[in-house]
Amino acid sequence: MSRIIAIANQKGGVGKTTTAVNLGACLAALGKRVLLVDIDPQGNTTSGIGVDKTGVGRSIYNVLINEESIKENIVKTGYDNLYLLPSNIQLAGAEIELVMAISREYKLKYALEEVKEEYDFVLIDCPPSLGLLTLNALTAADTVLVPIQCEYYALEGLGQLMNTISLVKKHLNKELDVEGVLLTMFDARTNLSIQVVEEVKKFFKDKVYRTIIPRNVRLSEAPSHGKPIIVYDSRSKGAEVYMELAREVLGIE
Ligand code: ADP
Ligand code: MG
Repeated sequence: MSRIIAIANQKGGVGKTTTAVNLGACLAALGKRVLLVDIDPQGNTTSGIGVDKTGVGRSIYNVLINEESIKENIVKTGYDNLYLLPSNIQLAGAEIELVMAISREYKLKYALEEVKEEYDFVLIDCPPSLGLLTLNALTAADTVLVPIQCEYYALEGLGQLMNTISLVKKHLNKELDVEGVLLTMFDARTNLSIQVVEEVKKFFKDKVYRTIIPRNVRLSEAPSHGKPIIVYDSRSKGAEVYMELAREVLGIE
């Protein structure tokens, strides 16, 4: 059975892409077959895993808009068990091109049905908006993983996200569940970070992952090298915590 997880939060810069790349790489390192789906026109997951955005003719755009087969658009990454459906800048137009399409919210779901059994996990990195691309991700997903940055406005906008999730449940994907809420960029030196953790736990209760991702410079450096953290610096705190998150997602203590 495959598990399709959308990584979503309409706020930018909260750690969606960092989590997609690194959770994906850690699950793959633990022997799981993983497909990363980059549905953000910025293509940061694509470049973050070391695939050239401009060079690949293959992309999620071809699948969503040109009805090409998903199989022919998936590329290998440099890592065992880890595959990618890349994004490129063309995807920026898809949000509008999809408006007129038939079953426009179901494009990704139908495409993934063709390949999902080949993977243990499909992780979808969403753009920072609640438009049609994110709706495609939420419609295709079994669950949503919500990264929340430990900062002042952490909870702002989450009502809107939860509202979107419940609308999707009602109209497009009855089975959609919240996979978990991930606290990111935690800074133990600040009271603010500690307060945000308390607030988020009060709100989301047992949905909050035990694993909390601290602010870690190595994590922010890794994307420019096109490497997941466990390859870029396997001894860093960032590598340790994303491996811990992967184990938590797998239910391994
Ligand atoms: P999103 O995909 O939600 O926009 P990103 O994952 O791209 O967010 O993260 C935003 C920025 O913060 C990126 O430059 C990334 O490298 C950096 N970043 C993410 N998580 C951490 C972390 N735990 N520690 C330090 N920097 C981080
Ligand atoms: Mg991103």
